Amino acid sequence: MSNNTYNTIILGSGPAGLTASIYASRSNLNPLLLEGDTPGGQLTITTLVENFPGFKNGIMGPQLMMDMRDQAKNVGVEIRTEKVVKVNLSIYPFSIQTEKEEYFTKSLIISTGASTRWLNVDGEERLMGKGVSGCATCDGPFFKDKQLIVVGGGDSAMEEALFLTKFASKVTLVHRRDEFRASSVMQDRVKKNPKIEILFNSEIKKINGTEKVESVDLFNNKDNKEYKLGIDGVFIAIGHNPNTEIFKDQIDIDDNGYIKVKNFTETSKEGVFAAGDVSDPKYKQAISSAGIGCIAAIDALHFLEDRNLL
Ligand code: NAP
Repeated sequence: MSNNTYNTIILGSGPAGLTASIYASRSNLNPLLLEGDTPGGQLTITTLVENFPGFKNGIMGPQLMMDMRDQAKNVGVEIRTEKVVKVNLSIYPFSIQTEKEEYFTKSLIISTGASTRWLNVDGEERLMGKGVSGCATCDGPFFKDKQLIVVGGGDSAMEEALFLTKFASKVTLVHRRDEFRASSVMQDRVKKNPKIEILFNSEIKKINGTEKVESVDLFNNKDNKEYKLGIDGVFIAIGHNPNTEIFKDQIDIDDNGYIKVKNFTETSKEGVFAAGDVSDPKYKQAISSAGIGCIAAIDALHFLEDRNLL
């Protein structure tokens, strides 16, 4: 076999991928982790993480991911910052093609996570980086004393709205239904914050502006009225799409794009495992992703041992 052939290749470097790599390395699988173009995954664009056990005062998301990456390196994981452009799971060992090189692997752990979902309304793409953003942590400080909109009704939208009140003079939370899906703790914090106004039953139809965002066209789906609201920035926080494009037609994927798994990590292709947000439409937590990443590495080890492939 070529020296580009690994026992295990792990795709993605969020909590699932890094945990899988740590377990795989400590099982002497000498894994290769291809960390993709967003090293650390979604936690690198969050602020304080208060629900990852072990940090009594919480920990900043980027710090947590840097520490996890260092831990992976310290236990011998080979990490390469390469993005996978194509996989071929119909040959064995499986082929993994990045922009730079082709690798082969006897087992594969997919932990490519999920990407920001956009509204797909007029003006959104054109004004990206000019007032339209998907990351309050990254762009919030640019909006000191400005008026902002956050779109969404989940925990992400609550978190972004609360964070943006540190900079903005006012944050308007726009949600399409008349109740949030966010946890009650987060909802309470939002409702108590005097800088946040909530617009229920509201949808953005268009984002206006030439050089930068100036206003949005809002539609109230209860009274069917459309009106314009002057605004300096629009933060979209409506969830994520699983990153599964390159696996389509090679393993089973559900209608929403998530990889289908049984027994936590097993995909429809023997020897291919999935962990984290890419296969989890329900829990989507850093700690649950890390847990499934651990299981994926142990499953990959058993797969290789049971077939005398090591
Ligand atoms: P989410 O829970 O899926 O919520 C997405 C929100 O966006 C929903 O309110 C949804 O509306 C709305 N939405 C979806 N598509 C839309 C569209 N095209 N136009 C307008 N609105 C749209 O996603 P999330 O908030 O990113 O949270 C994902 C997971 O991470 C959750 O499990 C959450 O608990 C977790 N999380 C936790 C924390 C924390 O604990 N600190 C922070 C962030 C996220 P509907 O409600 O009408 O469907």
